[in-house]
Amino acid sequence: DLWHARGHIRFEDVEFGYARDRVILPDFSLDIPAGETLALVGTTGAGKSTLAKLVSRFYDPTRGAVTLDGVDLRNLHPKDLRRAIVMVTQEAYLFSGTVADNIALGKPDATLDEIQAAARAVGADVFIDKLPDGYDTDVNKRGGRVSAGQRQLISFARAFLANPSVLILDEATASLDIPSERMIQDALQTLLADRTAIIIAHRLSTVAIADRVLVMEHGRIIEDDSPENL
Ligand code: ATP
Ligand code: MG
Repeated sequence: DLWHARGHIRFEDVEFGYARDRVILPDFSLDIPAGETLALVGTTGAGKSTLAKLVSRFYDPTRGAVTLDGVDLRNLHPKDLRRAIVMVTQEAYLFSGTVADNIALGKPDATLDEIQAAARAVGADVFIDKLPDGYDTDVNKRGGRVSAGQRQLISFARAFLANPSVLILDEATASLDIPSERMIQDALQTLLADRTAIIIAHRLSTVAIADRVLVMEHGRIIEDDSPENL
């Protein structure tokens, strides 16, 4: 029986710095209820990616704790943590192998049916079906033909299939062509449903679909409100 996290994330008096003499988050507290879509915005260097890295346990706090459903992330089994919390980074990275392999990365035992269903859910099936060998297309050999937007859709399908309780997304800054921008917005809506999401948002359209927007500056929250009020 697999443990399924509800996805309630809390930062409890967190202090963090990459180096001892330079604190990035001096005293950070934040409560993200299960199922909430939180957009993170703020100037460069504010600490947005740092916050994301603490939730995915890339780093641990130097003081305080980050908890999932009340459990300190440090006390979770790495396997449970990896299943519960998934981060999709700016560089929607593809590994050598087929499109199907790349989607199945978050769930290695997935069947082709499950892989295709995940691709359909986020609208990635449209372009995959047009690839020379469909799901069997080698992304290394044909990598040049997969656009930035399409790479993003593959990583969305990967995250959808992994089905984490908490999804962290560092949105790409690079502007995409209009059709794929719209496709990605639609895909996002599907991907964010029924889970907690923390999105480092660069697009206004993403901020608009969030339940809550956090504005950060120098490792602190300077605004915390609904997108309508900001
Ligand atoms: P951006 O919008 O540019 O992505 P950000 O809000 O994500 O900015 P962070 O990447 O969290 O900002 O960086 C916060 C601070 O931590 C910055 O001053 C940055 O220089 C520093 N920093 C980030 N990563 C490291 C690292 N690996 N080692 C040392 N310092 C780092
Ligand atoms: Mg960043």
